[in-house]
Amino acid sequence: MKKIEHIGIAVKDLKAANNLYSKLLNTSPYKMEEVVSENVNTSFFQVGESKIELVEGTSPDSPISKFIEKRGEGVHHIAFEVSDIEKEIARLTKEGFQMIHEKPKDGADNKLIAFLHPKSSNGVLIELCQEKVQ
Ligand code: ZN
Repeated sequence: MKKIEHIGIAVKDLKAANNLYSKLLNTSPYKMEEVVSENVNTSFFQVGESKIELVEGTSPDSPISKFIEKRGEGVHHIAFEVSDIEKEIARLTKEGFQMIHEKPKDGADNKLIAFLHPKSSNGVLIELCQEKVQ
């Protein structure tokens, strides 16, 4: 694992949250992107070498909408950057971690991503991400 790439925050209203986080971080999001496969809208703020990702569900059955319904808005996941996501998935599986995605999938911000089940990491949803080679 190379670094904390970003922290994902579940929000009800992305537009309002963008305004708030723009004030908080004193910068605008450098990117806004819909991830159709996950039913979410996202926006990204650069904070030093890490990022903040705001995530809003686009439908009631989006994982984000379900999360907010159960636990309210707040920190949703921590994403670690890895250099070889397939290798890292294999390593973690061997260590006994439960993967939500056993194969990497397309995520926002030009990344391949895979999530670990929070049950296997003390209730924290963990995302692995690897920059896609252009
Ligand atoms: Zn994320």
